[in-house]
Formats: sequence, structure tokens, C-alpha cells
Amino acid sequence: MEPVDIVALTVRELATHVRDGSLRATDVLAAFESRADATEPAVQAYLVRARSQAAAAAEAVDAARAQGRTLGPLGGVPLGLKDIFVTEGLSTRCGSRILEGWIPPYDGTHAKRLRDAGAVIMGKLAMDEFAMGSSSENTPYPAAKNPWAIDHVPGGSSGGSAAAVAAGSCAASLGSDTGGSIRQPASFCGVVGLKPSYGRVSRHGMIAFASSLDQAGPLTRDVRDAATLLQVLAGPDPHDATCLDAPVPDYVQACDLRPKGLRVGVHREALVHDGLDPAVARAFEQALEVWRDAGATLVDIELPHARHAVATYYVLCTAEAASNLARYDGIRYGHREARSSLRETYEATREVGLSAEVKRRILLGTFVLRKDSYAAYYGQAQKVRRLITQDYEAAFGRCDVLASPTSPVPGFRCGERNHDPLTMYLSDVFTIGANLAGLAGISLPAGLSPATAERPALPIGVQLLAPSLAEPTLLAAASMFEDATTHHQLRPPVEVA
Ligand code: GLN
Repeated sequence: MEPVDIVALTVRELATHVRDGSLRATDVLAAFESRADATEPAVQAYLVRARSQAAAAAEAVDAARAQGRTLGPLGGVPLGLKDIFVTEGLSTRCGSRILEGWIPPYDGTHAKRLRDAGAVIMGKLAMDEFAMGSSSENTPYPAAKNPWAIDHVPGGSSGGSAAAVAAGSCAASLGSDTGGSIRQPASFCGVVGLKPSYGRVSRHGMIAFASSLDQAGPLTRDVRDAATLLQVLAGPDPHDATCLDAPVPDYVQACDLRPKGLRVGVHREALVHDGLDPAVARAFEQALEVWRDAGATLVDIELPHARHAVATYYVLCTAEAASNLARYDGIRYGHREARSSLRETYEATREVGLSAEVKRRILLGTFVLRKDSYAAYYGQAQKVRRLITQDYEAAFGRCDVLASPTSPVPGFRCGERNHDPLTMYLSDVFTIGANLAGLAGISLPAGLSPATAERPALPIGVQLLAPSLAEPTLLAAASMFEDATTHHQLRPPVEVA
């Protein structure tokens, strides 16, 4: 075989080469390890590398093949996991000091299904602490950077997951999306990010932030790789009662479907947005043309309650986070600041172990759940959530998928927004609705912003949403775009030492 640039191959190509023996899993891993060694000093996507675990996994794949056993669909494919995923024998901190030292004694459903499929887990990826953030800067550890411009953020909270895929330091990764944390960093780093419908993928072993909104999903180079990973992850799980017991269709095959008369909905009103970057607006209009040229019909739709989505989200996610994070008390897991009384131990552990943004959200969440404020905030937000969901149900009567920019802006400079939580919260305007309504969503590379004196060229993402469990339609519409464009083939000019 011709020498190939291993780190440039897709998940499907890698799995095929390992299966047919044209590449050994150990050589594939070595190529990605040396790519990561070269890019990591600048990109800092990994919180932890799992070198010996990964080597053992790759050797096991080669040994299985040598014995004539059939390899799984991800046999020998090197992946990175956001540090929110529980991994047996491998540090899992959710980007927080409070979990420092915790080595899980089990694999969550994600790590288990990936390993059973033959994947090689290279390490745990950087994130905003407890997945709270949009820039990956809310962290006591080194913050991941955007491989397209090292002084820019990779987005968040799955910033390490997006940066690693863009830099080629793993073939694909997993992230989690509570309000946009897979899709927004995917758009900032020029990769594909898929948020499955709520309940499509188990949450067992994904550390909880806001349980009614959290979903795990892949970040990949292209749509078919995202479908390949979803195929492995999706489906019911006895460990998660909210995981849907719905049949798992063939997602990879769905990418080749070309639904006749596909209707792409556009919520025009949302595009009249003060903060919408002109380069993003332009890329979005060009993306709509791509669908139109491919035979889709564009329809204008209304989402009357969409403007309340961000406020609704921050009431609900903080309420859920405040109760989910109560378990970090210094007794059960990770770090402990031992003091003479139990109460002081709790207080000191949480004081030292949690950072400012996490504390802010626990306070907010505790406030909205108080007896005196519950009806005005939490109860009210639940009602608005219902209205937002009904808006989408009505919209999907008129269109099959809904298109929007993923984020109003391309990646911003490090430090530019982290003293202004409200501006940071607003970067999720286009993504949050999907979590509130439990929809499926994907962000696709849609080109680069033009380089100017103020700003380097940076990736822009376009988002598609589809009804719950309509991943086949979502993937079909997404590959229809991808097959007609070359944006996903662009690679960052990341410096390799
Ligand atoms: N940026 C949003 C937040 O800070 C979304 C985070 C996420 O999806 N995990 O909550």
C-alpha cells in the first residue's frame, strides 16, 4: 500500500484499513500519538493522556485480528473523550479540582460501548468545569486553544474535544451538549458536532450537569463519521431510565438518503440579531443556497417564544446543577479538605474544589428552587419550556429540518469574554432551544471568516435541527450539504513542532 497520512484518515477509513490488515492498530495509534505530541504543547486539548491503556487496547485489536476474530466497527480507531465521561482506571475529573484523584472503578456506557466496538481511548479532553461555559476557559487546568488560531478559544464546554479533532490528535471524540456544548465548539474549530435527541444516547457514566438537557454525542471530521459513532452509542440502556427504548436505525446508510422535496426551515426573525457577525450571516446565506441548489425548498418559520430560550435555560440548568452537584461533598469522591467537623469539611472542600462559575450556578439554582422563588422562576421556566417545545412541534409541521448559524460569532480571543458571564451566556442563542425541546442537532463546517487586520480566518458553523429521533433526516440533510461543499476538508495551519 502507498504510504498514507494516517492522521488525515476518517474513522471509517481507519477502521477499514485495520480490518483489512493494511494498517495495524498499533501503527495507527503511534501516528496519532506523535501528532498529539507535536500539537499538544500549543493546543492543550488533553487533560490526561492514557498512553499505556491505549497501547494495550491497540495491541489487543491487532491480536484479535491475528487470531482471525471479527473486529468491531471502531476496531483500532483512536478516540478522545471529554473528561465528563467516566472511564475505568482513568482519571475522570469533569474538569474540576473537586474530583481530583478519582479513578473510576467502572466504565460508563459510552466508554464501554466504544471499547467494545474496538476503539482505542487516547485520553480525556479539556472542558469547562462541569461543562459550564462556552469557551473552555472556566477551568483550573490549562485551557484548550483553537488550533486555527492559538490565541483564540476553541469554544465550550467540549472545547478540548473539538480542538483535538481539528488538530488531528485523535480521529474523533465525544462531547456533551446541555445547551450547545458539542455544536458550538465544533463550529469554532471547523469540525462536525452531533447532539442526538434527548434519550437517544444513555447518560449513564456521563457526569450530570442538568439531567433533563444533557446528551452525549460525537465530534468528527465529517457527517458519516458522526453517524458511525452514533451507531455505536445509540440505543436503550438498563442503567438510564431516560434512555429511549426506540429501535436504532442505520445512521450510516441514512447519510446516503436524498429525501425528495426536503423542506429546510429558516427562522428569519432570529437572524436580526445585534450580535450576529456579518461573516457568519454571509456564510449562513451561502449555506442555504447549497441546500436550495441540491433541490431543497426553503420555508420561513416562526418560533414565537424562541427569544425566551436563553433565560429559560439558565433557570432550569442552574436548578438542576445545584441539586446534581450536591453530591460533591469531599466524602464520596475525589478531593477532600479535611477539617475537624463534617460541616467544615463540606464547606472547605466545596470552597477549594469548585471554581467561580460553578459556585455562581449553584447559588442561582438554589435561589430559583427556594420556596419563595420557585413559582416565579423554576415553575415559570418549566411552562415556557413547554411553549418553546410546542413552537418547534408546530414548525416541524412545515419543515423537515431547521437551519440557523450555530453561533452568532466565530471563535473569540482568549480572555475576551470571561469576565462577562451574560455575553458568554448569549453565545448559545441558536443552540439552547434544541436542548429545551429534546431535538436532534448538528453543526457543520460552513467555511472560514475572511482574515482581516483584527481577526485571523476562523471557522464558521451552520446548524441543522430535526425532531426527536429524526436523526436519519438530520444526517441526510447534513450530508446533502457536505457532499456539495469542501468546507469540512479544510485543516487548521496548526504548528507542528
Ligand atoms: N454554554 C452553555 C452553558 O454554559 C452550555 C453548556 C453545555 O452545553 N454544557 O451552560
